[in-house]
Amino acid sequence: MGDIAEDETTFYSNAEVYWKEVPPTVDGMLGGYSSISSIDINGSKAFLKKFLGEEEGKTSTGCALDCGAGIGRIAKRLLLPLFGTVDLVDVTQGFLDKARVYLGEDGKKVGNYICEGLQDFVPASGRYDVIWIQWVIGHLTDDHLVEFLRRCQKALRPNGLIIIKDNVSFEGVVPDEVDSSVCRDLKTVHGLVHSAGLRILHEEQQKNFPKEIYQVHSLALR
Ligand code: SAH
Repeated sequence: MGDIAEDETTFYSNAEVYWKEVPPTVDGMLGGYSSISSIDINGSKAFLKKFLGEEEGKTSTGCALDCGAGIGRIAKRLLLPLFGTVDLVDVTQGFLDKARVYLGEDGKKVGNYICEGLQDFVPASGRYDVIWIQWVIGHLTDDHLVEFLRRCQKALRPNGLIIIKDNVSFEGVVPDEVDSSVCRDLKTVHGLVHSAGLRILHEEQQKNFPKEIYQVHSLALR
């Protein structure tokens, strides 16, 4: 038991140390793949727009939460143009400091900059139409991811949506010692999502990414 707790502490503290050293740039956010940022954002926009609207049953555009937001790459080009208010949460203070500059004029629509690990963060109950969680689930243990998703579900407004967009491995759970994360296969992600009591409304693979990187899948949940 003690060992597991210790491993877990190291898993999180190693990630924090890793991200503190990463430059607060789009390239830093994407591990050197800043060239894919536009493809990513355009894919996300098409995915998200299927759900948004004023009609019965559609998701409103009042307030979004960007989880593991970094410098606000996604907030800037996807969420701030679509939503009235956007909150950012990330464990790395330096990235949130940079976000205040990087977001420019659009940054006026940011509600809260929250510096906290998602394993501890409790999103405000009933506040969000969309909770966007991209390229960060691998930094949470299975149990913490399930618990975080449960808290996210409580933080949704009516017809709200949780979006996970992340790398998936071909098979099994692949550890990354460099940034202290794991990459899970789709079956494992599905299992964790269902343990959290969430239903998958829609799922897509991001197209046109470089062949040599992990496949990236988007899941719409509630
Ligand atoms: N989602 C952003 C950033 C991806 S980089 C984008 O797509 O552009 C991964 C981000 O996760 C970094 O900003 C890092 O600081 C953050 N992060 C890593 N571990 C975290 C944790 N436990 N809780 C919250 N944020 C974390």
